[in-house]
Amino acid sequence: MKLGLYVHIPFCSAICNYCNFNRGLFDAALKDRYVSALEAEIRRAAPRKAGAGPAADTIFFGGGTPSLLEPAEIGRIVAACRDTFDVAPDAEVTLETNPETSSAARMERFRAAGVNRISFGVQSFREPELRRLGRIHTADRARQAVAEARAAGFDNISLDLMMWLPQQSQQDWRESIESLIDVGPEHASLYLLELYPNAPLKEEMARSGWSLAPDDDAAEMYLWSMGRLEAAGYRQYEISNVSRPGRESRHNLKYWTDGNWLGFGCGAHSTRDGVRWKNVASTDDYARRIGAGEDVIVDRRELTRDERLEDALFTGLRLAEGIDVDAVGRRYAVDVWARFAPGLRPFIDGGLVKQEGSRLRLTRDGMLVANEIMAVFV
Ligand code: SF4
Repeated sequence: MKLGLYVHIPFCSAICNYCNFNRGLFDAALKDRYVSALEAEIRRAAPRKAGAGPAADTIFFGGGTPSLLEPAEIGRIVAACRDTFDVAPDAEVTLETNPETSSAARMERFRAAGVNRISFGVQSFREPELRRLGRIHTADRARQAVAEARAAGFDNISLDLMMWLPQQSQQDWRESIESLIDVGPEHASLYLLELYPNAPLKEEMARSGWSLAPDDDAAEMYLWSMGRLEAAGYRQYEISNVSRPGRESRHNLKYWTDGNWLGFGCGAHSTRDGVRWKNVASTDDYARRIGAGEDVIVDRRELTRDERLEDALFTGLRLAEGIDVDAVGRRYAVDVWARFAPGLRPFIDGGLVKQEGSRLRLTRDGMLVANEIMAVFV
């Protein structure tokens, strides 16, 4: 399988009150140093020999808010990837974009820079929910941003929505899903809001008396939305992701199919042939180290065969089609059934996991308790 290339852009225009990602407020001077550092890190990753570096077929700009970069800067980074790796001509090149950073002109220039897939962080189509989350765009701006991307020629657009938000009722959630269907992206990711321990949103919820709907409602929201999206022509291919046929995220599939990827930028993770490593998290330290010719890797280790097996099983089980247990067993020379059948049996008997020949997959009810089921493997 070809490599996926992940490029982390850690800058945001404002910090959302629930966000636990590696990000900080936009700083123009730091951004300039950072983009140069990224180019250097990519170019030194795999010195291209005789015109043929390692093959890659996806580039994913994640963040943070990658669309805060100028299109020319995105173009420089894409060029560094293409100069260093044997990037397929039809590679999927995704830019995570926040609606407030988008305009018709910028969309055209991002496309000219080599981006061919846009992933919009919309989160909700309801104003009160966007305000509670500290998002700085409006629902109308999100709709316009998608229209601008379409007008610029993008035919592969994804939207992120978040469910189980403070004060969100089932009806509110349904409104956002219906709006998403009206907007008509090729792909959608539906995430459950996860509140980390010191999230400012937690304090705000306490101060304002906002609450979360009961767990049963969250389950109902999830099941309803998957059914509704299927009725609208989408296919669920992963626990949190749906797409039009053939529009699955090729990059993210690498994470769920035991693939290889290289991460560039501060805090980026990489996995290649059973070796996993992580870059220094601080943006400033990352740019400084690269400038000084120093290593940016702060943690690197070779996974054991058991760890690779466990990873392959629990990430693969996220896919709607599940995993071919015999194929995974052959890859790691382990009888997977013999090792894990006793742990899996209650879930199979309970209708949460389905066994079909050598395949194992979660049922939709199983997806609601996926973490519990996947714990069997670790
Ligand atoms: S825009 Fe995204 S990365 Fe930036 S603070 Fe908000 S949630 Fe976090």
